[in-house]
Amino acid sequence: MKIPELLAPAGTMEKLKIAVHYGADAVYLGGEQFGLRAMAGNFCVNEMQNALELCKRNGVRAYLTINSFPSDHQLAALERYLRQVAALPFDAYIVADPGVLRMVRRISPEREIHLSTQANTTNHESALFWQDLGISRINLAREMTLEDIRATTGAVTIPCEVFVHGALCIAYSGRCLLSSALTGRSANQGACTQPCRWRYSLQEESRPGVYLPIEEDHNGTFIFNSKDLCLLEHLPELITAGVGALKIEGRMKGVHYLAGVLRVYRAALNAYAKDPSRYQADPAWLEELTTVSNRGYTTGFLFGDPRDVGQSYHAGYQRSHQLAGVVEQIHQNGTATVAVRNRFTRGDQLELIGPAMKHHPFICGNLLLQEPGNDGVAVEVVHPNQRITIAVPASAAPLDLIRRADADALSSHHPEVTGVKH
Ligand code: SF4
Repeated sequence: MKIPELLAPAGTMEKLKIAVHYGADAVYLGGEQFGLRAMAGNFCVNEMQNALELCKRNGVRAYLTINSFPSDHQLAALERYLRQVAALPFDAYIVADPGVLRMVRRISPEREIHLSTQANTTNHESALFWQDLGISRINLAREMTLEDIRATTGAVTIPCEVFVHGALCIAYSGRCLLSSALTGRSANQGACTQPCRWRYSLQEESRPGVYLPIEEDHNGTFIFNSKDLCLLEHLPELITAGVGALKIEGRMKGVHYLAGVLRVYRAALNAYAKDPSRYQADPAWLEELTTVSNRGYTTGFLFGDPRDVGQSYHAGYQRSHQLAGVVEQIHQNGTATVAVRNRFTRGDQLELIGPAMKHHPFICGNLLLQEPGNDGVAVEVVHPNQRITIAVPASAAPLDLIRRADADALSSHHPEVTGVKH
């Protein structure tokens, strides 16, 4: 039995550090050009060098996403870009477009190539086609069922990768013109504005300005509002199906999402590796996944077409907790320097979280604001982008996160994953 690689997004240097700290085996990151998710932060070539050094030091593999579909007039720029990154020791490139594949072969013939989900590989014949072309890993389409996945892993000799967590498109991944049509930003150039998640109303021709809700609900209507994928409870099926890598979606998401999701999947894979026969998903894992930004969870297509149970008709994003700050440095006296991300006050109930499901609730004590030339102005409230010193639980370490429960969200959060029955 082989435990699949846990593959996480790393849109910025900070997210990369979080991904490494919270147990990713591999990360995918984009350059400033040609990787889908044009707004995800992304690395310039110099930053890529630093990112790769960090990965190598920690034994984490790094893949560069070059998975947009360039037009002919972009090919010269793509060629320049490929030549710029050619000397960087990425473990693989992730591509979708056959033209990009061909250019990579010409410029970096030794580079391993992973096929992106944007290539929409939905059956084992397609997988064999790509294997014949020398692709060394395929990210299977999210629309495949467990049975389809088994048929494909059984047919090919290269590893297959599946998404286990994160947003779902209402189109085949990225093959959608909604964003392009409504905002001029193309999903296939990595610039999707996710208009499928907007609220839509109906307007009758003779009554301009009168917007009729499509479904009566005080939250409005979400006609294309897919829940997020969550296959946490089905890792044993995926592992025994021979899947080689489990991918987490979310290069646009923040560090709380990344840390929360990664530590759960890391814990689950470690528990399975320790004793597969007695493995059981811990309910606390699913509970943890509701603390981070999500749109309700579904098993997607794993057991067949999700139809209406894969949709949320009631809400947009939800989460039960908000990131308060990131621990930067631990001091001898039990305090830590924390980079504040959201407002909190002295006396707030906070939680420290870290890898290996570390979780310590604590009450926020004195808040000392660090300012240039003045290392400890006592304040009652702190705000984003401030740097403070506070007392933290003894187990705190750099890159642990401090968060605060959101009272309103707590009352309405539901740790459940909907999907068709299997
Ligand atoms: S608008 Fe929605 S369905 Fe279309 S590409 Fe963007 S995320 Fe996917």
